[in-house]
Amino acid sequence: MFYHVKELQFNARVSKPDPKFARLLLEQFGGSNGELKAAMQYFVQAFSAKNPYPDKYDLLMDIATEEFSHLEIVGATIQMLLGGVNGELKNASEESEIMKLLDGTAAKEDFIHEAIINPHFGVLTGGSPHLTDSNGIPWTAAYVNANGDLTVDLRSNIAAESRAKIVYEYLMKFTDDPSVKETLRFLMTREIAHYQMFEAALATIQPNFPPGILQGDPRFSNLYYNMSSGMEARGPWNQGVSTQLGETWQYIEDPLQQVLDTEGLTTLTPTGTDRTEKTVKVLNEELSKLRSEEITSATAEIDAQWSTYDKSGGLINEL
Ligand code: MN
Ligand code: MN
Repeated sequence: MFYHVKELQFNARVSKPDPKFARLLLEQFGGSNGELKAAMQYFVQAFSAKNPYPDKYDLLMDIATEEFSHLEIVGATIQMLLGGVNGELKNASEESEIMKLLDGTAAKEDFIHEAIINPHFGVLTGGSPHLTDSNGIPWTAAYVNANGDLTVDLRSNIAAESRAKIVYEYLMKFTDDPSVKETLRFLMTREIAHYQMFEAALATIQPNFPPGILQGDPRFSNLYYNMSSGMEARGPWNQGVSTQLGETWQYIEDPLQQVLDTEGLTTLTPTGTDRTEKTVKVLNEELSKLRSEEITSATAEIDAQWSTYDKSGGLINEL
């Protein structure tokens, strides 16, 4: 259940109205890297974690709920940045300030300019936030990544936090309001905190690479293809030992020749790796059994009940 507390998590303040910045800030309200995307992503991911991985469920729901708190802060800030626009529009008589502004003066041009910056604020939402990005593109569930595997989902979340962080960083360039800057800095910093939480949670799952269960084909996991002419840049991504599997990178200077020589890679033999088809098969079987049992043993198929209503408050489970 959700329980709403009317006070904001962070004391959002605005020095003066700024409809232009209100429009930009919509990016974090209904945009692809915004707070609603983050909240919904962690919320949706939490369902499959609930029974087999209660510690990760707790983490995902805590952060999802914090992201809703951020959504509320962003919405409140947009509302304050829009100042009295909503009230002006409710003054529907011809004598309203907006009608006066549209009376052939220089102010009329200013108003039209502001309205063109985001017509939705003027003619659709009446001066309140709405779930679109800064260009008016509606929020979509397509922004949400949830794949029912924590080694995948937690990595998606690290990427999502990175994107949310940089969008706040960019947004801070577009306002001079010290109060708004302070709020944005808080929201940006929380994404830095979340990044590390997801990273630490991923590290508690072992093994966690490659994402999912099945191991890669040892013939192909350490090949670097030189697929362009000109400079051949070398670095730890194509020389030395690979970051996760610890295999030696094989730099394929001439990929076309390799394809011709190996009948489309089918006759290639693994090099630079200790992994073999046999060890891969063993690991696939072991990991399949482990992960499948973790979930099936925690999943009731009949008489299922989601919650236990522990009267002590359930303050347990330190791992
Ligand atoms: Mn956030
Ligand atoms: Mn976050």
